[in-house]
Amino acid sequence: MKKSDILIIGGGPAAMVAAGTARQYYPQKSVTVLKKTKDSLVPCGIPYIFGPMLESVEDDMIPCGAMAEKMGTELLHEEAVDIDYDTKTVTCQSGNRYGYDKLILATGSIPKTPENIANHDAEGVFFVPKDPDYIRQMHAKVAKMSRVVVVGTGFIGIEVANELRDAGKEITLVGSRLLKHSFDPEVSAYMEKIVAAKGITHISDRRTCEILLDDAGRARGVKFDDGSEVACDGVILATGYRPNTELAKKTGLSLRQGDTIYVDEYMRTTKPDVFAVGDCAEKRHFITKRTIPVMLASTATAEARIAVANLYSINLVKSFSGTIAIFSTVIGDTCFGSAGIIEEDAKKQKIDFISTVVKVADKHPAKLPNTHEQALKLIASRATGQVIGAQVVGGIDIGEMINILGTVIENRMTIFDLLGLQVATHPLLTSAPTTYPIIMAAQNLATRFIGEN
Ligand SMILES: Cc1cc2nc3c(=O)[nH]c(=O)nc-3n(C[C@H](O)[C@H](O)[C@H](O)COP(=O)(O)OP(=O)(O)OC[C@H]3O[C@@H](n4cnc5c(N)ncnc54)[C@H](O)[C@@H]3O)c2cc1C
Repeated sequence: MKKSDILIIGGGPAAMVAAGTARQYYPQKSVTVLKKTKDSLVPCGIPYIFGPMLESVEDDMIPCGAMAEKMGTELLHEEAVDIDYDTKTVTCQSGNRYGYDKLILATGSIPKTPENIANHDAEGVFFVPKDPDYIRQMHAKVAKMSRVVVVGTGFIGIEVANELRDAGKEITLVGSRLLKHSFDPEVSAYMEKIVAAKGITHISDRRTCEILLDDAGRARGVKFDDGSEVACDGVILATGYRPNTELAKKTGLSLRQGDTIYVDEYMRTTKPDVFAVGDCAEKRHFITKRTIPVMLASTATAEARIAVANLYSINLVKSFSGTIAIFSTVIGDTCFGSAGIIEEDAKKQKIDFISTVVKVADKHPAKLPNTHEQALKLIASRATGQVIGAQVVGGIDIGEMINILGTVIENRMTIFDLLGLQVATHPLLTSAPTTYPIIMAAQNLATRFIGEN
């Protein structure tokens, strides 16, 4: 039996970052990754396989083999099927067994099966898994279709719908308010306008209950709960993901709400020397501390770095204090970013907050070419001024602006910290120093604490 100092089960972003970080911090230790599938896709790039941006599935591959070689880790094509925590041994489908000193589970997530939609497993109905073989076949079939129904209005459904529309297909998008977990209603309404202008039909007032089939058993339409129907050539179900925790469950690790693996702030599970990171691990919200089903590569890789830093001793005192659910997306040429809590959830959680919206041009003067309007909604605790949420809409630079705001939230900064923020501004790169949106939003909120209002 082969033994590794650090054994990782996975092969997605969490596993690869854990492996690379382990090699950096502990160059004397052997690191082995057991990875079920031979190839891996850049998961966040999958939607772009379906549009004009990537030419084929091959353009979205992660060169895992080359990465492992460069990092000096061993990458084995093996599926782990059992773990004996007493003897510290992992058994694989092949019958091979691997010993470990420290074990990191990074088994990720897989699409949820929507049991409430009849015929969800029929020919011409697809999920969006991170499996290259599946996506290869799906891509070839969807390319021949003219009318596609996409069910699901989270970011994956919207991104896939957007790309297929750009590829010239007739798209019906089905699901409630767009990106309702990450943005407040007014931002969804703005998104709605962009989606409509692109020629995507969004059905939000009906639930999909059945995939209608032709005589050969292939999808020919979708039926809704009010009896109405939409004809199509294929259906894509972007109806969420569930943690891939069968192995953890089978081997007796403690699971939490939603079947995620229980982890503490250092990503330790209930078994000694066993860590869990990424989509398979429990996520607690940074602000509310409640368990939430956030699955993001950025969170997964942050957790991998925290786990590895604390494998042998508690090194990172600033541990993983919860997910700030930070993410960004693009529809057409408009970018959207969100971090922390949205107003709607803050109300539900009975958080006493104040909020403001500022809108400025992202260049100065605004007559410069390619100027985009930038809108920022900032949410802060009414009592302390601590920033707890941010939503931004604008041009390409909001991709980094939301990251600044994420840092603000994660470091528990207040609006008062932001009032004197020193930022670099340039006519072609940013909004004006006189109207920089993060500072302006903080100043708007500060009027409730400072001065005569
Ligand atoms: C279409 C799409 C777009 C996305 N876009 C974004 C985005 O823009 N930004 C963002 O932050 N996130 C995005 N995500 C989410 C992101 O992809 C996931 O959060 C991320 O992949 C999680 O990484 P992970 O390593 O935890 O799990 P996964 O990526 O799910 O990887 C798990 C790996 O473990 C392997 N495995 C499982 N069980 C075993 C076993 N028993 N033995 C061996 N190997 C095993 C699997 O084969 C897989 O390789 C997107 C996801 C999808 C599907």
